[in-house]
This record gives sequence, C-alpha cells and structure tokens, in this order.
Amino acid sequence: MDSAQTERHFIDRVGWLRAAVLGANDGIISTASLMVGVASAATSSSAVLVTGVAGLVAGAMSMAAGEYVSVSSQADTERADLARERSELATNRNAEVKELAAIYVERGVDPVLSIKVAEQLMAKDALAAHAREELGISHTVSANPIQAAMTSAATFSSGAILPVLAALIAPKNILVPVVFGVSLFVLALLGAIGARAGGASVLKPTLRVAFWGAIAMAVTAGVGALIGTSV
Ligand SMILES: [Zn+2]
Repeated sequence: MDSAQTERHFIDRVGWLRAAVLGANDGIISTASLMVGVASAATSSSAVLVTGVAGLVAGAMSMAAGEYVSVSSQADTERADLARERSELATNRNAEVKELAAIYVERGVDPVLSIKVAEQLMAKDALAAHAREELGISHTVSANPIQAAMTSAATFSSGAILPVLAALIAPKNILVPVVFGVSLFVLALLGAIGARAGGASVLKPTLRVAFWGAIAMAVTAGVGALIGTSV
C-alpha cells in the first residue's frame, strides 16, 4: 500500500466517522432541546419522556427520508450525466478529446502535451476520464439510498436515545439539569472524538459543539417556560 492510498483510506474513515458523529450530535441536540423545552413548561416527567421518544422517532424518520431523497437524486443526476457523456464519447470523440485537453490546459498543462494526455487517458478508460475531470465523479455510484437512509436514522437514534435514558433514570426534581448535563457531556465527548479522528486540535471543536448545544437547549427551555406560563 503506497502513501497516497493510506491517506485516501484515512480520509474515507474520517468521512464516515464525521457523518456518524454529526448524526449523533443532531439526535442529542434536537431531542434534548425538545425535552428541556417541554420540561420547562412545567409538565409531568412522563410527558417529557413521551416527548423524547416522539422526538427520537420523528427525527430518525425525517433523517432517513431526507437522506433517501438526497442520495437518490444525486445518483439519478450522476447516472444522467454519465449517460450523456457516454453518448457524446460515442458520437463525437474528437470534440471530447479537445474538451478534456482544454481542462488540462486550464490547469497549466502545455497545449500540445494536453492533447497527448487526453488521448492516453481516453485510450485507457474514456468515460472514467471524462467523469472524473468534467463531472467530478471519481468513482461509480456506490451509495445505496436505503442503506444511507438506515445509517442516518441509526446514527441520529444513537444520539437521541441518550437524553431519553437520562430522563428515565433522573430523579423528577432534577430532570432538566440531568438531561442538560448528560447531553452536553456527550456532545463534548463526541466533539473531541471527531476532532481527534480528523487530526485536528481537540479543545476548540469540543467547546464549539458544547456551546451550540447549550444555546439550543437554553433557547427551547426559554420558549417552553414562556409558553408554559402563558397557557
Ligand atoms: Zn466529455
């Protein structure tokens, strides 16, 4: 394995982990905020729990639906682009050589050499060369919409379950501080893990995610208290 390949794998792994951490963050922040908001309206702790579970399910479904639509439409677009490119290559190969060469000239390759590069790349795999340079598609469509949807729902739920569990075990009189504290702690922990995996410094991303999590919960708590006293 050469170093370019190692680096690529590192990026892939970070991309996957980053998506998982972001999904879990979403789950924690939105569910905890909902629960803190409802709790601040001075409702019973069972109502807070129901809110948490409903928030978890609704959020997971919405993440899954959003991801399914997004991945499907991206795959559709890529398929259509590749089909158009394939037919252009079949009907007008010379123009396609010039088109590819022009891209290399723009990047600083000598015009004569750029034609050579384009011809050699197209001799190996014309469609792959055009897909990569013109469309920015570096690999064939591999994302499965169903799989993406389920992964999204799962990462969201794995975060959202934490404030629900916290509310389940917390004594009634300190339910809000426990949900708030547990959520902030896990958010900070995930922020640190994400930063560590990405090779970034740990402190700043950790503080950032904890800060915005605290803001989200504080705002919904404020709204809950406001509405709770006025109705
Ligand atoms: Zn082309």
